[in-house]
Amino acid sequence: MKLAIHGGTPVRESFLSYGQQWIDEDDIEAVVETLRSPFITQGPKIQQFEESIARYAGAKYAVAFANGTAALHGACFAAGISRGDEVITTPITFAASANCVLYVGGTPVFVDIDEKTYNIDPSRIEKAITSRTKAIIAVDFTGQPADLDPIREIARKYGLVFIEDAAHSLGSCYKGKKVGSLADMTMFSFHPVKHITTGEGGIIVTDDEEYYHKLKRFRTHGIITENVNNDEGPWYYEMVDLGYNYRMTDLQAALGLSQLTKLDAFVQKRREIAAIYNEAFSNVPGVRIPYQLPYVDSSWHLYVLQLQLGHFRVGRKEIFEALRAENIGVHVHYIPVYFHPYYQRLGYKKGICPVAEKWYEGALTIPIFPKMSEYDIRTVIEGVNKVLSFYRK
Ligand SMILES: *Cc1c(COP(=O)(O)O)cnc(C)c1O
Repeated sequence: MKLAIHGGTPVRESFLSYGQQWIDEDDIEAVVETLRSPFITQGPKIQQFEESIARYAGAKYAVAFANGTAALHGACFAAGISRGDEVITTPITFAASANCVLYVGGTPVFVDIDEKTYNIDPSRIEKAITSRTKAIIAVDFTGQPADLDPIREIARKYGLVFIEDAAHSLGSCYKGKKVGSLADMTMFSFHPVKHITTGEGGIIVTDDEEYYHKLKRFRTHGIITENVNNDEGPWYYEMVDLGYNYRMTDLQAALGLSQLTKLDAFVQKRREIAAIYNEAFSNVPGVRIPYQLPYVDSSWHLYVLQLQLGHFRVGRKEIFEALRAENIGVHVHYIPVYFHPYYQRLGYKKGICPVAEKWYEGALTIPIFPKMSEYDIRTVIEGVNKVLSFYRK
């Protein structure tokens, strides 16, 4: 069949993005109701949302933020990371997982990924630890939890703070436990492509009361109103840290609460689509389906194929462009963070994580989100097969 990029008919009529939100009338009503209430920010919905997420994730405390990146910034602050401190993380992630370390003056140290899971390789972490190492930020890439037990053990042994960037893994399980109580602090994002959305939004969950208080004041200018000098008068408050205005609004929290009632159904649908893709692509020459550790249950934020480029007459770029022409919204997650010009200027050299760099060359994200119809799923499979068979050697 003639490829759409060569003038043929695309496998589907309209463009299908790789991810998108699912908003229903009841979500809209929840926001409107809050709009009509006395509080559109700093009201009761925030705390309700925090308590609901904490309960869902199995953590004691939650602090909501304006977005996931601000939440990670807060976690780095609460962890006490500052100038001169090193923080170990993975290169195969969104830039925010490392940028948050830079925000507080620390230095990200990139440790290579495991060839099979594409998550940070725990067996390489110890070699990267120095006297300046302060924390580890693991990322649950695509929704598959990083190998949390060995990482936590290393963090304990060296006295490091363990932060989990779980932007991809709300609803995922590791050894039967929900992601959210397995690191010192865990971050979820509520960007529209993530499992549930608040427009923009993020949260940190933790069992540690001290982190909880630090996160709360970091979110609001570093201001405290409790345990201050009451002799001054009832208006009195103190700014004790250089915080930010990183608050989520009640409008967002109201949307989040409504979305949360659907989370399990959303995750279920993502798992069903992943199972269909696994089946469809497991015997296709030249692609590798995502390997999953036997003791994890991913909530499948992303579905990433690994192209084995030796099987094809062209590179990933041509395959990508041909799929876009078929109206399949493929994407690439992720460019290794230190490839970005900003990190190159900081002195990170290409070649430091060879497994990640090699993996990046063949990575191809295909659409997965709960609102996909049977037609959407079928045309993705058709489109991938059409393009790959055309270019296969
Ligand atoms: C989405 C995402 C973030 C940032 O979340 P925002 O809410 O967009 O700021 C951080 N890390 C990873 C891995 C993400 O996918």
